[in-house]
Order: sequence, then structure tokens, then C-alpha cells
Amino acid sequence: MDTAHSGTPSDSAAVRRRNLGLVLRHIAEHGPCARTEVATATGLAHGSVTTLVADLVDRGLIGEDDAQRSGGRGRPGRPVRLAPSRALTIAVQITSEQLRAVVADLAGAIVWREDTSHHQAPGTPEAMADALAAAVRRAENAARAPRFEHVESVLVRVVVAMAGPVRDDGAQTVLVAPDFGWLRPVRLGALIADRLPGLDCPVDVVNDGNAAALAEYHARPRARRGLVLIEAGTGIGGGVVLDGRIHIGSHGIAGEPGHMPVAFDGPGCVCGARGCLVLYAGPEAVLTAAGLQRTLRSQGVQAASDRLVVALEAGDERALAAVEEAARALGAALLSITALLDVDEIVLGGLLTQWFAWLAPTIEQVLSGRGALAPAMELDVVPAALGADSMLRGAVEFARHAVLSDPSGVPRLPVRHH
Ligand SMILES: [Zn+2]
Repeated sequence: MDTAHSGTPSDSAAVRRRNLGLVLRHIAEHGPCARTEVATATGLAHGSVTTLVADLVDRGLIGEDDAQRSGGRGRPGRPVRLAPSRALTIAVQITSEQLRAVVADLAGAIVWREDTSHHQAPGTPEAMADALAAAVRRAENAARAPRFEHVESVLVRVVVAMAGPVRDDGAQTVLVAPDFGWLRPVRLGALIADRLPGLDCPVDVVNDGNAAALAEYHARPRARRGLVLIEAGTGIGGGVVLDGRIHIGSHGIAGEPGHMPVAFDGPGCVCGARGCLVLYAGPEAVLTAAGLQRTLRSQGVQAASDRLVVALEAGDERALAAVEEAARALGAALLSITALLDVDEIVLGGLLTQWFAWLAPTIEQVLSGRGALAPAMELDVVPAALGADSMLRGAVEFARHAVLSDPSGVPRLPVRHH
């Protein structure tokens, strides 16, 4: 095989696509800005930036700043800014209780939204794909309605968020989803795309905990390098964000903190291993240890958690001991996470946010035990900044990042003759 042709046309096309994304991302984050600023910040040659900016203007993704027009001398000096309405994305989230869909613009602003409740999620993969495809269609119709008089909007990305690890294999395969009774891999992305003939954009599926981690990352300016989210809902989920991107790993199972072993000879877990974090800090374990299993069975996890907080505030010993045990397990998990990833922040979400005040002292105590390795380490363990919308918000960020990084899928605007 001839590998010497490093300068083949496909390579230069890939470089050009990457540079197009580099320029658009900078303008999206820092615009309005002059072309010289873009060149300095990206390290690209001035001439390249001028060409790339012209390409993005042709696609309608950026515009020149009107306010500066009268004072500007010739095009290159004029600042450019993102034209967020040009490219729209759809994000859909399904849980056992709700189906939510939004249309967002390229700045992440939500321009249409629909929330539907159901008593039970569609069980079979086919029924689930039907429901998700129908929601995408409704969002698509909303996105195609003429909303902005002078803008021709195009739909560029669909992202579906749900529980379960997802493999990025083109078919966006959900490996397992116990919440919906799926115990074997389901090619969900492909099933949805099959039901949407004529939809002219990619369909992604992301793990909802990973999406929530990405949303938390964008809500926290301090977490520059990385962040790990551990979230308690029905079980324990979460996600890992490194350098601004979700890390799903080689098999799609990264960012499943609930199945980190914290006791190697602990009880068996549904995942096949022993002593997993979910068995000590998961809602069922904590609420049962606190004596609230009847409330959990009859009124659900949120009602039981609310009662746990009342008991904690009253100084109930059983409740305090249950949360203490969870905090020790979380502390052990955080030691492993920091030893492996050394992130800036660890965010505790869902019910862990509600229990945070009682978890934090023990977690800090466990973490301080390793001061010898990195005495000056400033790890922040913090409660989640976002509420129930974080997963949908993260799916929007995921779609947005995909388009900003590779805008070559957005068609050029038709040339108008005056
Ligand atoms: Zn497990």
C-alpha cells in the first residue's frame, strides 16, 4: 500500500473542513470580531482566514457587522459575527415518564419546545423509534415554518438523549437500556433515520448522563480541562467531559460511574461485577438503608428522597448513617476518578444535589486522605448547577458543537440577482 501521499486532495479537503470549523467556533465564542483577531487566535494565515470567512458568509453562517458598515473601509476590516438562525438543530429526550423535544438555533437558544408526559415509555425498540421519529417530525415542521423573514434556515442535526451506553458506530447503537427493558444492543439511530425518509441530516443518539455532563461543563467556566458528573435518578449515571468533549471511550461505556467498584468483595451487581458504587450510593440503597423502602415503592423515588431530607434535617440517626455510607462510597469512587483523570470539577447531580449538604463533609474527609500525592490539588466537588433540563440542554450543546466543528454540511445560500 502506498502511504507516501500525505498531500492527497482528500487530506487537504479534511484540513479545510477542520479549519472552517476552527474559524466558525472562534467567531461563535468571541464574535463579533475582526478577521485579524481570528487569524491571531487560531494561528491560521491571514489569507486563509479571509477565504474561510468568505466561505462561511456564502453558507449564511456568519454575517458582517452592520453597525460598523458606515465607518468601515472595505470588507476585510469589518467585524464578523455568528448568524445563529441559519442552522437549526433538534434535540429529543425520552425517559420512562416524558418525551421532550426542542428546536434550537446555533447560539443554543431554544426557538420551539414540546413536552409530553406518558405513564410508560414505548417498550419495544420499534415502538420507541416510532415515537421518537414522530417527535422529530413535529419539531422539523416547526423548524421549517417561516420564522425569520430574511433567513433561510436549514435543519442540520438531530440528537436523541436517553438512558443507556451508546456506541458511536454509525447506527448509534444503544448497548443496553434496563429503564426500557432492553437487554441487548439496539441500533436506535438507524431505526429512527429509517422512519424519517427525506430528513437531510445526521441523527445522533447520546447517553442522557453524558449529555447532562456536557451541559454542566458549559454552565461552569472553571471546569476548563475536564469535569465528571455523577448523578442519581433511578440508578446512578453521569458522564465524563474532557477538553470540551464527551468521552465515551472505545466501547461506549465510559462515563458510567455507577458501576465503578468501591468494594472488591462487595455484593453482586446487575452489571456482573461486585461492589459497584450504585449498590452503596444509588437511590434504592440509600433510601432502603434509611428505612424508606415503603415510601419508595408506593410513592416513587422523589417522594422518598424528600422524606429522607426531612429526616436528615431532624437529625434522624438512621437517615444520617445511610447518607454517611453513601458519602464514603462516593469518596472512594472520587479517589479513583481523580487518580485516573485529574479533572477540575466533580459535579454531583440529581438526588445527590438534594443530599449534598450531608454528603460533602465525609467526601472531603475521604479525599483529604490523599494529600501526599498532590498537596496543592484544588478539586472542586460541587452540586449540579442545572436542574431537570440538563440532559436536553446537553443534547442541544452536542448538536451545536457538531455543527460548529464541521460546518461543511451547511449548503451555500443561493446567489441572489438584484
Ligand atoms: Zn455494577
